[in-house]
Formats: sequence, structure tokens, C-alpha cells
Amino acid sequence: MTRRKLDPATAPALVLATHNAGKVREIEVLVAPFGFAVESAGALGLPEPVEDGTTFIENARIKAIAAATASGKPALADDSGIAVDALHGAPGIFSARWAGPGKDFGVAMDRVRSELDWRGHGSGASARFICALTLAWPDGHCEDFEGLVNGSLTFPPRGARGFGYDPIFVGEGMDQTFAEIDPAAKNAMSHRADAFRQLAAGCLNTYLDKTSSA
Ligand code: IMP
Repeated sequence: MTRRKLDPATAPALVLATHNAGKVREIEVLVAPFGFAVESAGALGLPEPVEDGTTFIENARIKAIAAATASGKPALADDSGIAVDALHGAPGIFSARWAGPGKDFGVAMDRVRSELDWRGHGSGASARFICALTLAWPDGHCEDFEGLVNGSLTFPPRGARGFGYDPIFVGEGMDQTFAEIDPAAKNAMSHRADAFRQLAAGCLNTYLDKTSSA
């Protein structure tokens, strides 16, 4: 598949179409080696569109197109969440909404625990983080990517790093939660990093040069 390329020489600024500070931090680190000046939708005061898609990719597209149209610059959006097998993939695209209007992820993690408990599951339940990334141009063109990281859940939550559901997620082959490990270690193996590697290989010509010299 031929992907449209994004070149910092002709499009020096990239808008991160998210108001989530945790995602901004992680995406900035991933984008940094490629030479784009990054601006977040939150800092630019762009409105948050209604995410009424039925898949991660549909929601990422909604956010990326809204930000690219409003700013007149290429925009990168992430839509992500956690899918728990014993809950038939829930909370999935509703991961943010399970935290309620106060965006309290203690509430969201309690709900995951009680829904699992009710079905006779608990620590050790298999889950994965999923991340859709959409790069949108002001002319409406989009390139979509999806990444994931498999793991399991642990209760009670542990660790103060990361954000969202990180304190209950343990990556495959690991002992510590995503909220306990070094952010650089999470960034190397996360669903966002997986999707970003695909995006970089498809749309950022310089990807191999940047990683091989790292
Ligand atoms: P949205 O993509 O902004 O609609 O929300 C996705 C939600 O999924 C976030 O608010 C987080 O709670 C959760 N989520 C996505 N990625 C991560 C992650 O890397 N760690 C922890 N939680 C995440």
C-alpha cells in the first residue's frame, strides 16, 4: 500500500489532536526525532469533537480531521483504550467514558474490577491496550494505523507513573505495571509505540535513519 508521506521540510508543524496530557507527553517523545514542531489541540484551544465512531480508527479519524481542518496543518490523533477478554473487549472504545465526567480512573479501574469479579475473574485476566493513530491533512486525506500490546490485569492498582489504566496493566512477560515501569520502557513497547512505528515506516521517510542512529 502506498502511503502519503509527511515531510517536515514542507509541513514543519504537526498538531497533536488530543486534550489528554498523558497522551501528549508520550506522542511528543515518539515524534521528537523527526523534526516537527509539535502543537497540541488543547494548547491551540481547538474544540473537542464528539467521538461517535464505533471503532478506534473511526474515532481517531474524527479527531484528526477536526484538528487538521480547524488548524490548516497536518494533525495526528490517537484513539486508544483497554480491551479485557473476559468482558468481551470492554471497556474498549468506552475506556475514557468509564472514568465518568470527573475523568477519575480510580472509578474506571474499580468498575473493571467489579465487572470481572461479578463474572468470577480477577487478577490475571487477559487484556490488551489498543491504539489507533490517524494522520490527517487539511485536504481531508487520512492515513490510519493500529497497534497493540498484550498483557494481563492486576488488582489493586500499583504505581504512580503513566496515566489512565496503567496501574492495573502488566505487559506480557513483565512483573511491574505500566504505572511502575520507567516511562521510556513503556514507550518502547506500548500500543502507541507499535502504531507509531507503523506510521513512521509508512509516512515518515526518515524513520529508519532516525532509529538506526539512536
Ligand atoms: P480516548 O482515546 O481519549 O477516547 O481515551 C482513551 C482512554 O483509554 C484514555 O483516557 C485512557 O484512560 C485509556 N488509555 C489509552 N491509552 C492508555 C495508556 O497508554 N495507558 C493507560 N490508559 C490508556
